Amino acid sequence: AKQDGKSQVCFFEKDMQKAFTNRLRIENGLRNALINGEFCLHYQPIMLVENNSLVGFEALIRWNQDGTLVPPDIFIPVAQESNLIMEIGRWVISEVIHQLSQLSPALYIAINLSPLQLRDPSLIDFLVSECQAYGVSRHRLVLELTETAFTDQRTDVYDAVAQLRKDGFKVALDDFGTGFSSLSHLRNLPITTVKIDKSMLPSANNHRLELLLRGLVQMIQALDLDLVVEGVETEIQRQLCIDLGAVNAQGLFFGKPESIDYYICKNEGP
Ligand code: C2E
Ligand code: CA
Ligand code: CA
Ligand code: CA
Repeated sequence: AKQDGKSQVCFFEKDMQKAFTNRLRIENGLRNALINGEFCLHYQPIMLVENNSLVGFEALIRWNQDGTLVPPDIFIPVAQESNLIMEIGRWVISEVIHQLSQLSPALYIAINLSPLQLRDPSLIDFLVSECQAYGVSRHRLVLELTETAFTDQRTDVYDAVAQLRKDGFKVALDDFGTGFSSLSHLRNLPITTVKIDKSMLPSANNHRLELLLRGLVQMIQALDLDLVVEGVETEIQRQLCIDLGAVNAQGLFFGKPESIDYYICKNEGP
């Protein structure tokens, strides 16, 4: 029995070792990626559901590692632990604001902000000066935050959101419905937009979930907030959005994240 215990510890340590070297490998890869320009952004359309017209995009980062696109779920956590997210995040911000300057002024782009970025005291100056440099109106930039941004250092983070709003940026609460304190954020945060998570959207006949979604939509609209339903994959789900009076939606039904050229024909101009 003693022997077993020892080999289990050994096994555990090997796992830890493996996870650690894997993390280091990604971290070093990310450093090189920044230097070599291996990141790119894919854009997913956000639609006005009732007439299928485009209102904006969400920018989603990819890492082009020797021709393979690494999804963010693999490397964003490492980028956050190693603080590289600060530099990567700034690259995303510049890239998106540059992109906005080439799009129709009627369109917006949403970007995902890590909690760490929100705590960076120079974030707002950076956003403001990039918008100025590219001549982009601040209301065309939506900053998406998840609940994890508000779990600690509450006042700092609340102040940052308030300042972003004062400066004219839009702020969205992302993945709404997945956390434990979504409602308190609705009450306290000066956000402009709520993105309802795909897990709140029924994929089959699910009366209970549908009622819950209906209630959420009514609540968000009563607060006069913009609303995006995420993860719309089928015509039935699109119909449900229309039926609920949910105005904006995003998902594979409308289009997957793609390079901007896929959605915007550059030759036709903005
Ligand atoms: P998210 O912000 O919730 O982004 C939505 C995710 O859902 C994207 O995954 C998108 O490709 C996927 N998706 C879109 N439509 C559908 C659909 O109809 N069905 C389903 N099942 N999924 C759909 P992606 O691109 O792999 O991004 C994953 C997460 O990585 C994002 O979740 C976001 O939290 C994070 N992320 C992406 N880009 C950035 C970035 O530039 N900075 C930071 N900090 N995080 C990012
Ligand atoms: Ca998002
Ligand atoms: Ca989301
Ligand atoms: Ca998510």
